[in-house]
Amino acid sequence: MIEIERVSRAFGGLQAVREVSFTVATGSITGLIGPNGAGKSTLFNIIAGSIPPDSGAIRLQGEDITGLPTHRLFHKGLVRTFQIPHEFSRMTVRENLMLVPAAQRGENLLKSWLSWWKVVREDREILRRADDVLAFLEIDHVRDELAGNLSGGQKKLLDLGRTMMTDARAVLLDEPGAGVNRTLLGKLAEAIERLNRERGYTFCVIEHDMDLIARLCDPVMVMANGELIAEGDMASLRQNPQVREAYLGT
Ligand code: ADP
Ligand code: MG
Repeated sequence: MIEIERVSRAFGGLQAVREVSFTVATGSITGLIGPNGAGKSTLFNIIAGSIPPDSGAIRLQGEDITGLPTHRLFHKGLVRTFQIPHEFSRMTVRENLMLVPAAQRGENLLKSWLSWWKVVREDREILRRADDVLAFLEIDHVRDELAGNLSGGQKKLLDLGRTMMTDARAVLLDEPGAGVNRTLLGKLAEAIERLNRERGYTFCVIEHDMDLIARLCDPVMVMANGELIAEGDMASLRQNPQVREAYLGT
């Protein structure tokens, strides 16, 4: 689904990502781990089109997408949860979901706000889709809550829900578990697994919670100091001396 080929990026004298290559296979939930400062988020920023690489290439289903801006990638079905327009805290959960398809079509949210929102609200298909997403994620009970009132974990579920309102095929998740309580973490993991299994989403996941990574991801890529140092399943990586040193050495 996503091929990362010899991607490098420096900030001033600091080589944040150095010649990193790996593949996110179609249908996989691929993990990306490494100590703080390893270059994981920089690599995500490059894949998602937020910053260009200094060298190297990114391909999506064989098509060169290096340097394409975020909204073009959004269109092609590659989304990063945080880059779907941030939730509108004064709108309900369901309304937040209903906003997304129009955003993916590239309509300007702010330009003709009122008439645009009227059209979206009257779109039965979008309403049906939003209710399907609410049921799938088991958050129908908060559908009429203002998004701003949700807990951190519920907001992450809403984030996933927004990806489901798009034609996403590949989803980049940067620390989905951060700040989420245990109960909701289980639900979040289950939602990711079901999206993968039942709806064919491919994921690439950065996460610090090793239990979550072990549960969800295979394979897992390990970065340290900007480089890819190992890849494999979590059980074998836990035995890998280079991986152990990378974590203990920083
Ligand atoms: P990770 O997500 O693995 O913790 P990052 O990709 O955020 O690592 O950061 C990798 C390195 O690049 C770090 O040393 C960080 O300070 C540096 N870095 C990241 N973004 C920038 C930036 N916009 N400007 C300067 N340095 C940056
Ligand atoms: Mg990071």
